Amino acid sequence: MKTKHPIVIALDGTSASGKSTNAKLVARALGYVYVDTGAMYRTLAWYCLQKRVDVNDERAVASACRTWKTKLDCVEKDGLRSVRLLVEGYFPEKEIRLPQTAAAVAHVAAVPKVRAWMKKTQRDCIQFGNLVMEGRDIGTNVFPETDYKFYLDATLAERTARRTADGVNENLAARDQRDSQRAVAPLMIALGAKVINNSAMTSAQTSALLLEEIRKLMPAK
Ligand code: C5P
Repeated sequence: MKTKHPIVIALDGTSASGKSTNAKLVARALGYVYVDTGAMYRTLAWYCLQKRVDVNDERAVASACRTWKTKLDCVEKDGLRSVRLLVEGYFPEKEIRLPQTAAAVAHVAAVPKVRAWMKKTQRDCIQFGNLVMEGRDIGTNVFPETDYKFYLDATLAERTARRTADGVNENLAARDQRDSQRAVAPLMIALGAKVINNSAMTSAQTSALLLEEIRKLMPAK
């Protein structure tokens, strides 16, 4: 595909709305790089827990985020290229999915200086090429200039059932509420975003719909 600037597909939505699964399917189909911004916030939450930084102490969290030693890395696995945020050379893949990390993440994500750091770092991912980036504020805040904005949602019952099926027991409503009510870059539907409620859809159906909409938006070659 010949485009002057890298394309960013912004995929936002509530917790367990299928963002990761579908972002990966879309990235694979298009040959784009997948970016999980939630993993970056989770990595900071894990780092704070490791370093015994109180996640309710805004200044301490901001200070940890100012001084941690990180690096963006792009890796390829099973035909999917994805970006990882390394801390001191390490990607805490398993640790960021632990319940204690999940419980801490929305606290660190509400800190304005953390959000500014994340926005800059996430925009830097463009160095790796065309992106499918999933999160909560990609279409509203990180790449507001993109024409490719999507918002996924499903009923709370369906989302809870999906997490339970993955063996994760979590109060999703509490995290969504915190994400939607924070002062800086809260979870909301970006202007012009295509909203997809996939409560009754499989991921194959959701990703097919996403790809159809994306292709409609792409300039003719
Ligand atoms: O998507 P995931 O569940 O991994 O995201 C974890 C948390 O990270 C969210 O609940 C939210 O608090 C935060 N987050 C955010 N903005 C993003 C991505 C994630 O605030 N763009």
